[in-house]
Amino acid sequence: MLIIVFSLAVSALATPSEPFVIDQTKHTSSSCELHHVQMSRVRVPLYASGIASLPHDYSRCPHGRRPIDTGCTKFGEDAYGYIWVCPECEKACK
Ligand SMILES: [Zn+2]
Repeated sequence: MLIIVFSLAVSALATPSEPFVIDQTKHTSSSCELHHVQMSRVRVPLYASGIASLPHDYSRCPHGRRPIDTGCTKFGEDAYGYIWVCPECEKACK
C-alpha cells in the first residue's frame, strides 16, 4: 500500500496546481469484510502523522471514518481522499 501511495505522490508533484486526491475506494469492495454490510464512500482529509506505521489498533473497526494517514508525506492543504466508511465500524470505534 505504501508503494502505491508513494507512486501517486510522484505523479502529483508533476502537476502541483491540482489538489492531490487519494482514492482508497477504487478497485476495492464496498462491503465491510468484518461486518458484511454496505459502506458509503466518504471524502476525508489527508493527515501526515510523520510515522510509517499506525500505532492504533483498528482491528475492531477497519472502516471507521478517519483521515487518510500519509505517513511522512504532506500533500498540501487542499489535498483529500476517499475511503469506505462502514456504519458498524463507526459504532465499534466511537
Ligand atoms: Zn465494518
